Amino acid sequence: MNADTGTSTRHPVLVVGAGPAGLSAALALSAAGLPAVVLERRTEDTVRPGSRAAYLHGASLRELERLSPGLGHETAGRGLMWATKRSYWAGREIYVRTYPPATREGLPHFTSLPQVITEDLMATACRKQGVEFHWGVEVTSALSTPEGVLLTDSAGREWQADYVVAADGSRSVLRSAIGSPLEGPRSRNTFVVVDLDDDPEHHPMPIERVFHYRHPNVGGRNVLTVPFAGGWRVDLNLKADDDPERFVSPEGLRRWIPRILPEAYGERVRWVSTYRFAQQVAARFTDTHRRILLTGEASHLFAPFGARGMNSSIPDAVRAVEAIVRALEAGPDRAAAGAAIGRFAEERKDAATYNRACATTALDHMLARRPSLWLRERAAAAVASAGRRAGEWLDSAPYGPKLTARGAARGSY
Ligand SMILES: Cc1cc2nc3c(=O)[nH]c(=O)nc-3n(C[C@H](O)[C@H](O)[C@H](O)COP(=O)(O)OP(=O)(O)OC[C@H]3O[C@@H](n4cnc5c(N)ncnc54)[C@H](O)[C@@H]3O)c2cc1C
Repeated sequence: MNADTGTSTRHPVLVVGAGPAGLSAALALSAAGLPAVVLERRTEDTVRPGSRAAYLHGASLRELERLSPGLGHETAGRGLMWATKRSYWAGREIYVRTYPPATREGLPHFTSLPQVITEDLMATACRKQGVEFHWGVEVTSALSTPEGVLLTDSAGREWQADYVVAADGSRSVLRSAIGSPLEGPRSRNTFVVVDLDDDPEHHPMPIERVFHYRHPNVGGRNVLTVPFAGGWRVDLNLKADDDPERFVSPEGLRRWIPRILPEAYGERVRWVSTYRFAQQVAARFTDTHRRILLTGEASHLFAPFGARGMNSSIPDAVRAVEAIVRALEAGPDRAAAGAAIGRFAEERKDAATYNRACATTALDHMLARRPSLWLRERAAAAVASAGRRAGEWLDSAPYGPKLTARGAARGSY
């Protein structure tokens, strides 16, 4: 089938969107022996700026390796790992920990690389596994019935499928089509996110993850600096009444970046953006007929601290495909098929709700608006150099709680 004859074939499954969630779904489909067909609005060569989901957890690497042998290792190899994490409070070091070099064979605990590289590696693996991509196809509507789904694209072509994996991102047309609004708040403060190029000839900064509370050189704002393959990501936490333009204009960047990093970095800005982070989860992860399954940012948006966005989009997609496989195996038994999709929807909504709670804990910690939290942070900072646990707490709290026992048992978010 090709894009000009959209209605001629009915597909068991269509995937809408070729971001991390859609690519994971495509890999999972082909690993399960099902044809994988992806409809993607952008063209194959569209430039996607920004490091975005730079931090890939070990659980994601293991999942990629399972879906496409070699992919987890290749992705880990293209990324960067830091051995040292460090925190400061108002110019004073309050915590540092350096891990010994890994001795075990196998996949690392994490890797750090621009999201676009991860996506390109996943797309290459997809092609090797025979995934069919239709680039430049924008889905504009979806009609779900007890028998299946009819999609229409912006050129008026129609696409039919038994099931659809909706991986069309934060402004998901499919989420709107099934009438499942995103629910939850948005942070009031603005965050400035900057990518800086590294210069391979000159590494003036050690490869460390650094969180600086109340940085004295930027008016007491919090600053997180994270290395990734090829560059540095800096998150600056603006105050509620700051004008973001003052920080993201070329002059603004040249003013504050050299105050927190070696001077050369003021001229190495590759990408800059501002965010008020949404903390939202879709009301339902599937439609009434249980034919369209929401995954990734089509179903949830989290503040990035703790790296739960892309890292949970991968298991979303994998579980969606597992549910679809069970539903297809159920054949004419509609109740069993519907139950399989229903379990997916509940399980992943639970996971998203938990992930949002973790991201909220991280965000609350950073903004420290509640007086009790503000006092606790100050008290911990005061004793941090003497008491290791206080420093450890301040060092880890900006990323929220770790996996739950249940999530860890399944190895995913
Ligand atoms: C500044 C920033 C920092 C982040 N940092 C992290 C981090 O450190 N760690 C982490 O895990 N996550 C992070 N995230 C989140 C991460 O980028 C997202 O979670 C991830 O991209 C979600 O993947 P997705 O596939 O669901 O959506 P997307 O990546 O948005 O992909 C959706 C795809 O669907 C396509 N599409 C959209 N509409 C249609 C349509 N109608 N028809 C056809 N195709 C369509 C789009 O073109 C796109 O290719 C960050 C995000 C931001 C913005």
